[in-house]
Amino acid sequence: MYTKEDCLFCKIVRGEVPCTKVYEDEDVLAFLDISQTTVGHTLIIPKEHFDNFLFVPKDLLGKVFSVAQKVSQALVAGLRAKGVNILVNTNEIAGQTIMHFHVHVIPRYSTEDAIKIDFIPREIGKLNLPKIANDISFNLKK
Ligand code: 5GP
Ligand code: ZN
Repeated sequence: MYTKEDCLFCKIVRGEVPCTKVYEDEDVLAFLDISQTTVGHTLIIPKEHFDNFLFVPKDLLGKVFSVAQKVSQALVAGLRAKGVNILVNTNEIAGQTIMHFHVHVIPRYSTEDAIKIDFIPREIGKLNLPKIANDISFNLKK
């Protein structure tokens, strides 16, 4: 069974696994992703364990994204990135491999960067957009 004891990012928070730290405060840690998809690729995590985006309390979520913005600004100012992608994979189907919520900040330098996120449009005529929107809004938590 998966526990916080086994969680790689909890181990990084506890200092049991090394990381290359970019930023730290009471609640949030930012460190370089080991894969460096582009130079400066950074992960932002809450120190407290939550499996993924769906479970993070909103105040903490705000703190994590605020650090993601700070790091993005530093990537632009310091590493001369021309832009960034902010990516949150949620659950295995969406590519989440580490089950401790994290935000990827991926600096972009050129159109040749290894990462490319394409939105491939569907034939919108075949979809009932008002029904889809209603199914979402009806389930929004107060
Ligand atoms: P996910 O696929 O869950 O959204 O992203 C997990 C990320 O964690 C991957 O980009 C992967 O490169 C990164 N990662 C995996 N193991 C380690 C590690 O031990 N240290 C660091 N810094 N990053 C890691
Ligand atoms: Zn964890």
